[in-house]
Amino acid sequence: MTTVKEILAQVQTPSPEDTALIEKAYEFAKKAHEGHTRYSGEPYFIHPAAVAKHLAELGMDSRTIAAALLHDAIEDAMATPEEVESLFGSEVLFLVEGVTKLGKHKYQGGERHAESLRRLLVATSADIRVLIIKLADRYHNMSTLEHVPEAKRKRIALETLEIFAPIADRLGMGSLKKELEDLAFPAIDPDAYQHAIEVRKLKKKETDVGLARVQKELQHALVRKGVQDFSTSIRMKGLWSLHQKLKRKGDDITRIHDIAALRVVVPTIDDCYTALGVIHANWKPLPGEFKDYISFPKPNGYQSLHTTVVTGEAGIVEMQVRTKDMHQRAQFGIASHMSYKALAKSAGKNAFQRISFPWIRDLVPGLLNLKKAPTHAPKGATNSPDVPQWLTELKEAHIEVGADEFVEGLKSDFFSHRIFVFTPIGDVIDLPTQSTPVDFAYAIHSDLGNHMQGAKVNGKLVSFDSQLGNGDIIEILKSKSAHPTTRWIEYARTSMARRHIRNALEAREKSMRTQDAKAKKKAKKSKQ
Ligand code: MN
Repeated sequence: MTTVKEILAQVQTPSPEDTALIEKAYEFAKKAHEGHTRYSGEPYFIHPAAVAKHLAELGMDSRTIAAALLHDAIEDAMATPEEVESLFGSEVLFLVEGVTKLGKHKYQGGERHAESLRRLLVATSADIRVLIIKLADRYHNMSTLEHVPEAKRKRIALETLEIFAPIADRLGMGSLKKELEDLAFPAIDPDAYQHAIEVRKLKKKETDVGLARVQKELQHALVRKGVQDFSTSIRMKGLWSLHQKLKRKGDDITRIHDIAALRVVVPTIDDCYTALGVIHANWKPLPGEFKDYISFPKPNGYQSLHTTVVTGEAGIVEMQVRTKDMHQRAQFGIASHMSYKALAKSAGKNAFQRISFPWIRDLVPGLLNLKKAPTHAPKGATNSPDVPQWLTELKEAHIEVGADEFVEGLKSDFFSHRIFVFTPIGDVIDLPTQSTPVDFAYAIHSDLGNHMQGAKVNGKLVSFDSQLGNGDIIEILKSKSAHPTTRWIEYARTSMARRHIRNALEAREKSMRTQDAKAKKKAKKSKQ
C-alpha cells in the first residue's frame, strides 16, 4: 500500500498547507473505503493511493492529488459532496465530481461513437486536471487488469485503446499513451501481442551490439563537435504501435526501421541542429525520412528531429534529437506545463487560476477535434461545413477575449452551458443545457422536427418537455401525420427550434385557411 509519506516525497517543496491537505485526504479516503476490496482481494484504497502517487510524480498540484485520493469516495464509498466540500474546499469537490461524471460515459463500440466520446470527455472535463486524474485512474486500473473478470476485461481494454490512449496522445502524454496501449494489447489480441514481443526481441538481439557501438560513436562525434551536457539512450517501440506498423507493412520486419531508435537529448535547439549535422556527416540518411518536428511541431505539441540513417553495424536506425525541455514534454505533455514547478514560477496565490498557457490556445482546438489534423492547414483553409457550432464559438471566443480570459473561460464554465448528446449512430449534437427532444429533432433537420411523433432517450420513451443530459442517446420517432403544436414553443430552448415551429404552425394555419376557403367555395358551387 502506497503510504502518504511516499506520495508527499514526490511533491516538490510542498507548503505546510499542501502537506496538511494531502494527509487529511489520505486519512479520509482510507477510512471511507474501509472494508471495500478490489477484484484482486486487496483493500480498495490501494487504488486511489496509487493514482495519487502517480499524479504527484507527474508534478501535479496538491488539490489534484487530494482529489485523486478522494476520486472514488463519493461514488463508491459513503462520503457526501457536502462533506468533501467542507473538509477540502470547493475546488477539490469540483475535481472529484468531474472525475465521477466522466466515469458515467461508457464506450459502446464503433468508430463514430469513439470519436464522439473522446470529444465529449475532453469537452465536458471543463478543467483539464479532471482529465489528467481520469487518465491516471485508468492507468492504475489497466495495470491491475488481470484480476478483472474476462468479459469485462476486454471492454475496458478496448475503451482504453480507443478512447483514453488517443486522449493521452492529444494531451502530449507520450509515456502514458504507450503504457496504456501496451497494457490493453494482451486483452485485445493475445496472439498478436506474443508475436509483437517476439519481433521486438529478435530485433533487439540483432541490433543490440551494433546499436551500442553506434551510440558510442555518436557520443564521441558529438563531443568532438563541442556539444556538451547531452545524453543518449535507446528507446524501444511500444508493442501496440509496433503491431499497428507490422499490419501496415505486411508483417515485413525489414521495412520497419524504428523498432529500436537512438535518442539524443541536448540542451538547446541550436545543439539539436548541430547534432543532426553530426549524425548526417557520419551516416547516410535515408532520403524522405527526415522530419523536422521542431520547426513543425505535431498538433499535440510534440517536438523533435527524426532522421533515419544507414549505419552498417546496426542496420538502418532511426535517430531522434530533442532538447531536455522537449523531452520532458514528449513524455508528460500537458502535465509538464501544469506541474508544481511550472506553476511556482508564476507568482502569487491561486497561480493556477491566473496562469496563462499560451500553448493551450493552440492545443485546445486540436484537442476538441480529435481526428488527426494535418500539422499545417493549407493556406487559406477555412472551416469545413461540418465543424460543430460550439467549436466555432470557441474559436470566436478566443479571438474576442485575451488569452488569459480565454483559458479562464475554458477552465470554468464555457462548456457548462452546453450539453453533448448522441444520435443513434453516434454523431454528437451539442445543445444548450435544458434542451429537450424538440431541440434535438430540429437540430438534426427541420423535417424531422416537423414530423416528430415520439422520442426515446437511452431507449426509453420520454415526453417532449423532458430535459436531455450529457451523453444521452436520442432517437426521434417520425410520422407523416405528426405536426408541431403551440406547446412545443415552450419546450424548445433553442431559437432555431422555435423559429421552425412558428414557421410550421403558420404554414399549417395558412393551408387550413385555404382548404377552408376551398371547401366553402365548393359548398357554394354545389348549392348553386
Ligand atoms: Mn478509480
